[in-house]
Amino acid sequence: MTDHNRAYADACERCGQYDVIPAAAIRDGDTGIVCGYRCPNCHAVWTCGWGIVPGRTVPPEPAAADFLDRHLSALLHEQAAVNRAHKHAARRDPA
Ligand SMILES: [Zn+2]
Repeated sequence: MTDHNRAYADACERCGQYDVIPAAAIRDGDTGIVCGYRCPNCHAVWTCGWGIVPGRTVPPEPAAADFLDRHLSALLHEQAAVNRAHKHAARRDPA
């Protein structure tokens, strides 16, 4: 089977640019990552959470991606913290 998205590429919601490769990613628990994107066309930045798929290229950590701007880096860390908080809340839910 062919993996059509080997690099966790995403589309830009602002201008429609597709196959935008993440500039960086941070781990989200054991099975996920949060990827940070910067559109090469309109320069929008966004994040997207993925489950790790074996065989795919995991983007570099923000610290290793020296081309990463601070806005995108902050966005990534913020999203990862939100995800952690959600998981924490779910674990403590008695239901
Ligand atoms: Zn764009």
